[in-house]
Amino acid sequence: MQIRQSNQVFNFDKYATFEKDIDPKQRAWIEVKGKAIETNVRQLRSKLSKNCQFMAVVKADGYGHDAKVVSDYAIKGGASQLGVATLKEGIKLRSSGVIKPILILGNLYTKRDLIIAFKNDLMPTISGMRECLICNNIGKHFGLKFSLHLKVDTGMSRLGFECNKFVQNFEKITSFENIIIEGIYSHLSSADEDNSLNPKSSAQRQKFKFQELLKQIYVYKNHNIKIHLANSAAMLIKKDFHFDMVRVGLSMYGYSPLSKIDENLSLKPALFLKVKVAFIRIIDRGVSVSYGGKFVSSRKTKLAVLSIGYADGVPRNLSGKINVIHNNKLYPQVGSITMDQMMVDITGSNEINIGTTMVLLGSDGDKVISPVDWARESNTIPWEILCSFKNRLPRVQVD
Ligand SMILES: *Cc1c(COP(=O)(O)O)cnc(C)c1O
Repeated sequence: MQIRQSNQVFNFDKYATFEKDIDPKQRAWIEVKGKAIETNVRQLRSKLSKNCQFMAVVKADGYGHDAKVVSDYAIKGGASQLGVATLKEGIKLRSSGVIKPILILGNLYTKRDLIIAFKNDLMPTISGMRECLICNNIGKHFGLKFSLHLKVDTGMSRLGFECNKFVQNFEKITSFENIIIEGIYSHLSSADEDNSLNPKSSAQRQKFKFQELLKQIYVYKNHNIKIHLANSAAMLIKKDFHFDMVRVGLSMYGYSPLSKIDENLSLKPALFLKVKVAFIRIIDRGVSVSYGGKFVSSRKTKLAVLSIGYADGVPRNLSGKINVIHNNKLYPQVGSITMDQMMVDITGSNEINIGTTMVLLGSDGDKVISPVDWARESNTIPWEILCSFKNRLPRVQVD
């Protein structure tokens, strides 16, 4: 279709009309470097013993990166298992063609959910006899064995069998004919604290408790059961946290959970948060910017309006506390971050125009801004920053 209007010819047909036709880099987006995940996994694996497996934890859509992309590259880097939090996350991975073992780290407690897990070849985490019996019955019903992991609580007080009762329960469970105990695990509450090498630290006490328990059930003699305890922090502390498998999230994405880190590791962030400049304006001295007028210009100021806000997952309490990178230079964000936009002071720059791409997280030249920096400024942890990003931000895989 062509329409003639004031001497110009518009060819309407070449313009997108569907949502899927809109350029993912039209406004704000997350770039995911699959290769960074792959090399991070490879590096982390080099710290493990030969027989120790690497479970890539890809819950919460791969910490906001896109679980499928992360899984594919983690597997390339040598991950042999995947961990998700929910039934839905597990099914999504299975239906996208992932065939490695998948453990659901959250708790499934209805017969219906456990059947769905079983049918999708997903291993549930079992924290009690009730769920264990349901699994055995499901196995029996289908004339098959249901593979699962047993969890024990050694100090987190979240999921898991009570430590004291586990030995007794374990004996009963081993007599169930329609389940396979693939693994026994526990989770640490404070492995990222600085004192984790100290025998009195809670990580060491939890490990001790776990080992005492394993001794009692003679599980060391049973080589088919995988024992696992470590998250990223514990994996990096010391080898004696590794057992048969480590469950790694944060460090695989390129960030260290520890304040000190092995100098031989150079983890690469896999996530870049980028945004387009939607508008540019110049304001005089003494003019207020954004809701509440908390920022007032102290000189004639050039502002770039960026198409990203808290509805995309940028925490509003970072208002006025972050920088944005362009061409190896940092520009301060000013005024309150709004739902869909934020302003940046670009006074003095002639390089930034409408449509210019700026970097909120990631690197440009030698300037780097990490979710760890944002977490420090907004009084939270990098895990929360990463999984706050909303679906409104398209994930674009680059490599
Ligand atoms: C999320 C999670 C992990 C991964 O933790 P990181 O600190 O990101 O490495 C490991 N184990 C369990 C049970 C988890 O829920």
